[in-house]
Amino acid sequence: MVSNLKSEINVAVEELAVKIRGEIILPANAGYEDARKVYNAMINKRPAIILKCADVADVILGVNFGRENNLLVAVRGGGHNGGGLGLCDDGLVIDLSGIKFVVVDEAAKTVKVGGGNLWGEVDKATHPFGLAVPAGIISTTGVGGLTLGGGVGYLSRKYGLTIDNLLEAEMVLADGSFVTVNEKQNTDLFWAIRGGGGNFGIVTSFTFQAHPVKNVFGGPTLWPIEKTNEIMKWYHEFIQKAPDELNGFFATLIIPGPPFPETLHNKQFCGIVWCYVGDLSKAEGIFKPILAMDPIFQHVGDLPYPSIQTLFDGLFPPGLQWYWRADFFNELGPEISAGHLKFGSQIPTPLSQMHLYPITGAAGRVAKDATPWAYRDAKYAGVIVGVDPDPANGEKITKWCKDYWEELHPHSSGGAYLNFIMNEGQDRIKASYKDNYDRLTKIKRKYDPNNFFKVNQNILPA
Ligand SMILES: Cc1cc2nc3c(=O)[nH]c(=O)nc-3n(C[C@H](O)[C@H](O)[C@H](O)COP(=O)(O)OP(=O)(O)OC[C@H]3O[C@@H](n4cnc5c(N)ncnc54)[C@H](O)[C@@H]3O)c2cc1C
Repeated sequence: MVSNLKSEINVAVEELAVKIRGEIILPANAGYEDARKVYNAMINKRPAIILKCADVADVILGVNFGRENNLLVAVRGGGHNGGGLGLCDDGLVIDLSGIKFVVVDEAAKTVKVGGGNLWGEVDKATHPFGLAVPAGIISTTGVGGLTLGGGVGYLSRKYGLTIDNLLEAEMVLADGSFVTVNEKQNTDLFWAIRGGGGNFGIVTSFTFQAHPVKNVFGGPTLWPIEKTNEIMKWYHEFIQKAPDELNGFFATLIIPGPPFPETLHNKQFCGIVWCYVGDLSKAEGIFKPILAMDPIFQHVGDLPYPSIQTLFDGLFPPGLQWYWRADFFNELGPEISAGHLKFGSQIPTPLSQMHLYPITGAAGRVAKDATPWAYRDAKYAGVIVGVDPDPANGEKITKWCKDYWEELHPHSSGGAYLNFIMNEGQDRIKASYKDNYDRLTKIKRKYDPNNFFKVNQNILPA
């Protein structure tokens, strides 16, 4: 029976191979080991079939193939997800990395992007036009997963989250149909994909509003970790009142080595990485109160937007071990800063860090039910990452990350930005969508009643 079943699948795979323009990679094929790698080397999943799609037709064929053969299906965009949600064990991976294009409409200030593009490719294509789309802070992250989960980055305070700039998407649904979603067509789906992750279908193109951003003024300022209480208190008061044009995320970190001066290497710091997107002639005035806080190191200045977007790429190449935990916070009171001082002083490896990203300005002015992203009133999206190249340190970075999170979670707002967590189960997903969860479950029932798209932060059909 089993062997009959296996041979049926083999026949079906051979039939699929004839129809697609892309490539099928099976465990026996050369290239399988590379094709199953994702950014986080802690993830070690072995899919039965990897379908590298070349176009929308391949995605439709892949969805129909997965459904007709009752396979577990994962969808891979940029492969950056902390929990490895772009992969699955045994089933079919629909890999979008071959669906890449960036089309800039300079007059309309819009950008149409393939479902498999990475953000660095988008930044490079828009920069010559003096335009940018709000995204995350590392250029190798996928457009797909980051956008569908929300999208927090340097431009959030001025231009909102990535989802606030999504104008349209084209997607393949669980029944294999291909639809366009925007403010006028399939409006329920358009609402659901702006934060609801990959639960509703496979997005083959995203159209974004872009904004006039050419050069920015920014970079890091660092203080000794012992100053965490003082600097965090000052930062909270300062950033809440700062103009939308100024963004800066707070961090506890170790300076691992070059390009930073040797005197800083392997020491713990608290710091802020700034990005000002306003009138550059005013930048020095804007940074005066920041530099008056007397950082032990600062490297702020005028730089092209793609340069700030790639500032940390070299420190965090693919293939490191990553463990993730996250929470939203409304304030940074003394108990919270004491927790950051305690765990910031115990960072276990040079690349492990904690970041707090402001969710204020334009991102915070969007109504809580305008998109599934419910925590519009949170002041910060916090994330703790234990990171190291050596698998032998996996336990150490995981323990630090969990302990740090447990210390601060009681002071948090309850939920987390779902792109910043690994697999923490249904309660955590519900807490993160809050009042929007029920509406999401109803849309899931309408478009994916059998929960075909389940390798994600899963929303169960109502
Ligand atoms: C180093 C690093 C830095 C980061 N920095 C930021 C940051 O600054 N801001 C921020 O907001 N996030 C950030 N993230 C988190 C990031 O948003 C998530 O990891 C996100 O899931 C990555 O998307 P991906 O497409 O690369 O991932 P994948 O692992 O490919 O996919 C993640 C999930 O999205 C789904 N998916 C991906 N593409 C599609 C698609 N086209 N259609 C349907 N479903 C799809 C997948 O099925 C999966 O469930 C960072 C992550 C890393 C590793």
